[in-house]
Amino acid sequence: MNRTLLHGCFWIPARHNNDGSVLDDLASWYPVIDLCIQICGYGPHSYYPEICSTLDNESRPMHHICLFLSFSFLTATLSAHDGPPVPEPKNLEDFMGAFRPRGWKLEQTQIVSRKIGDKLYVFNGAGGNMAVSIGDDGVLVVDDQFPVLMPKIKAEIARLGGNGIDFAINTHWHFDHAEGNLALGPAGTWLVAQANSREMMKQDHIINLVTSSYEQKAYPESAWPDITFENAMHFHFNGEQVDLMHFGAAHTTGDTAVIFRGHNAVHLGDVYNNAGYPFIDAGNGGHFGGLIKFCTKTLKQIDAKTIVIPGHGAVSDYQGLADYIEMLQTIRKRMMVLIRDGATLAEVYDAKVTEEWDEKKGNPKGFINRAYMSLTHRVVE
Ligand SMILES: [Zn+2]
Repeated sequence: MNRTLLHGCFWIPARHNNDGSVLDDLASWYPVIDLCIQICGYGPHSYYPEICSTLDNESRPMHHICLFLSFSFLTATLSAHDGPPVPEPKNLEDFMGAFRPRGWKLEQTQIVSRKIGDKLYVFNGAGGNMAVSIGDDGVLVVDDQFPVLMPKIKAEIARLGGNGIDFAINTHWHFDHAEGNLALGPAGTWLVAQANSREMMKQDHIINLVTSSYEQKAYPESAWPDITFENAMHFHFNGEQVDLMHFGAAHTTGDTAVIFRGHNAVHLGDVYNNAGYPFIDAGNGGHFGGLIKFCTKTLKQIDAKTIVIPGHGAVSDYQGLADYIEMLQTIRKRMMVLIRDGATLAEVYDAKVTEEWDEKKGNPKGFINRAYMSLTHRVVE
């Protein structure tokens, strides 16, 4: 809850889009309203507090007391029912071994590059996909995997005609996209990220993936981004404009879409996961509705021929991103219908809201859990 709205007679905490409109996930208030109705019998107008201002002077105080008691009760209830407990955090090695399909074994990992444009490459190793621009101005990378891989990453850059890494942009703060900062920062690379990601890198955080969890420790100052932005910034590098855009909380609170205008390519980080269902880091401010919005806003920035680089999985295109958005919108719609009817997390699992995509995307358990917690604001971990 990042702001509050004054509606007539009562303060309603609300989440907002960047343009000031309210996100459509106020379902977390429905139990308050239901309880209020049960206690004081004022009916569904309680959900629309501006209508409450039409109550007569005698009714209004009772209504307010009732709303207060209901909210207090709900807060206590939600705190006690935040889904399954957070799994015990694993160390990096164990945690990496859990990744599909065979785990990430850093020492054995080889860097495989693919040319997707005149001066632009995608590097695969362990962790998130990297975009690498190599040209007369130097080398700019998007995401930087892990320190142990840096000699191999730099060797591949050298093989392709580059020399070192001048700029590294983090699509977000998660270790599998930003851990390479630990090597690049001290070596003199300029590190760039959305301002919220920099803040997240300064502290310890538990990343709860539901089936497992990882404690990402605070990075030392040398690995913090040197350059940050709020909503947008622009590079003019290797003969093209590179736009960095942030559209609010999505996979995390600090996501960036990096658009290479000359190459007509975009790197979306984990806002777009093409290796399974997306992970919404709801425990650290990520948001399901925001993730859909972020993708939709990015789609408006590109065209039918744009190359779309996901955080994980195969390089995709405009249609791939459009299909992903449609899938997420459909799933969210189904979940919201259930949540409005008071469905528990277990009931949403049982409703098979993702059924037609499960064969391709895999087990939806973690995704549904984080989506549910995000849509009902039940994350208190
Ligand atoms: Zn991530």
